[in-house]
Amino acid sequence: MDCIFCKIINGEIPCTKVYEDENVLAFKDINPVAPVHILIIPKTHVESAYMVDTTSNILNKIFEAIKIIANEQGLQENGFRIVTNIGESAGQTVKHLHFHLLGGRDFNWPPG
Ligand code: 5GP
Ligand code: ZN
Repeated sequence: MDCIFCKIINGEIPCTKVYEDENVLAFKDINPVAPVHILIIPKTHVESAYMVDTTSNILNKIFEAIKIIANEQGLQENGFRIVTNIGESAGQTVKHLHFHLLGGRDFNWPPG
């Protein structure tokens, strides 16, 4: 399948890895919009959060990883933002489920 993030998982495309376990990979976003901008993805291809098999526990595993990474990055004190875009209107450009972990600065609400 022609998926950039599957290629990152299988090593065809390099990344700056920050966390990995059996089910989850996390790496730095190539175009960071905050001092900390990490993408957390499942190792099994799924198009978006809308397409997740909610009977699987992949989202729990991803959020376990997010907590570990946020602590490692020292973000637990001031807080951080988790974003997942679903589909065109939300601006999803890579069709492999990913959560953006953004931190190290303040963020506006509501988002643009
Ligand atoms: P989306 O717009 O789908 O929510 O987010 C996709 C993100 O993937 C963007 O922030 C973009 O910078 C990042 N990205 C796209 N291609 C690559 C890549 O090859 N390597 C890395 N590390 N990030 C990528
Ligand atoms: Zn994929």
